[in-house]
Amino acid sequence: MALEDVLDLIRKAEVKAGRAEGTVDLVAVSKQQPLDRLEAVLAAGHRVFGENRVQEAQGKWPKLRLRYPDVTLHVIGPLQTNKVRAACELFDVIESVDREKLAAKIAEVGAELGRTPRLYVQVNTGEEPQKAGVAPAETVSFVRRCEHVHGLKIEGLMAIPPAEQPPAPHFALLAKLAEECGLEKLSMGMSADFETAIDFGATSVRVGSRLFGARPKRADGPVEA
Ligand SMILES: *Cc1c(COP(=O)(O)O)cnc(C)c1O
Repeated sequence: MALEDVLDLIRKAEVKAGRAEGTVDLVAVSKQQPLDRLEAVLAAGHRVFGENRVQEAQGKWPKLRLRYPDVTLHVIGPLQTNKVRAACELFDVIESVDREKLAAKIAEVGAELGRTPRLYVQVNTGEEPQKAGVAPAETVSFVRRCEHVHGLKIEGLMAIPPAEQPPAPHFALLAKLAEECGLEKLSMGMSADFETAIDFGATSVRVGSRLFGARPKRADGPVEA
């Protein structure tokens, strides 16, 4: 199945990049996918998934987790502060920390729940006005503020390069910023470019359509969030 093919390509890319085999994690991006496709990937043994909308994830994962309690869930889409509580309850990793107000809310809710998800800061490497993420020039100071002002532990950086540009320079920039921040984790690379991302040091890749097939079109608007 596609899962085996993708895992195989990840292992090959690790070897090619001179990295230890098994060091890159696959986040299976299940947003908008029919339940039977998720079930197939779960049945094949995969346990790490990414969703971009809290509400959509709430509709499917609590039920699936009854049968697969060892699932790890990542939120990879923009997070509104009024969804932070639900996100902290449902998700193990938030990859889209990108503003002070959100960091403060995560710290507050995490303290109340006695449990804070693992956190990544999202960087807008292409400085696209419509895209979430902190500007590259502000990344180091933002990460420091998350850590020192809000007491959060930041694990790594995440980015979604501009769709119409070669991704490699964006992967290189994210890796450089992570090094400046002293962070080891890099979430970068999607269906079209995860092998390149691994070459540039990705520690996790977020793969959707390559794994599950094309996302069905929504009746009510565009496919992407
Ligand atoms: C949808 C999405 C992905 C997966 O995209 P594919 O091209 O289907 O692999 C990865 N990361 C984010 C943030 C996404 O929203």
